Amino acid sequence: MTDCLFCKMVSGDIKADVVYENDQVLVFRDINPQAPVHVLAIPKQHVSTINDLTAADTDMIGQLYLAAKEVATQLGVAEDGYRTVMNCNAMAGQTVFHIHLHILGGRSMHWPPG
Ligand code: 5GP
Ligand code: ZN
Repeated sequence: MTDCLFCKMVSGDIKADVVYENDQVLVFRDINPQAPVHVLAIPKQHVSTINDLTAADTDMIGQLYLAAKEVATQLGVAEDGYRTVMNCNAMAGQTVFHIHLHILGGRSMHWPPG
């Protein structure tokens, strides 16, 4: 997608603070971190929301979680714990319509979320 912020990060048109990358996934630091560690794992392929996923995306979704595990270890939050969140549409607070898995750690998390 030409008019998508996160696609522009994948293409390199917009600079991202990348912490992990493989052929399917890019992980970069959130510009407005909500925890000492706050990164976003995105598929390089554009999908707008969870509602747009199909069975063909099964491997890609798995790759996002494997990347989360790698990055949590790399950034030192794997043992203490971290939270993964993917918001879907307006009421959940989705603001960027290219799916992304938030990975948050480095502080205690509360439940239920706000
Ligand atoms: P959402 O609200 O859609 O679940 O999450 C979007 C996330 O993208 C937010 O946490 C927001 O801070 C982050 N974000 C928005 N614009 C940019 C940007 O230009 N660069 C980076 N690195 N993160 C961004
Ligand atoms: Zn996109």
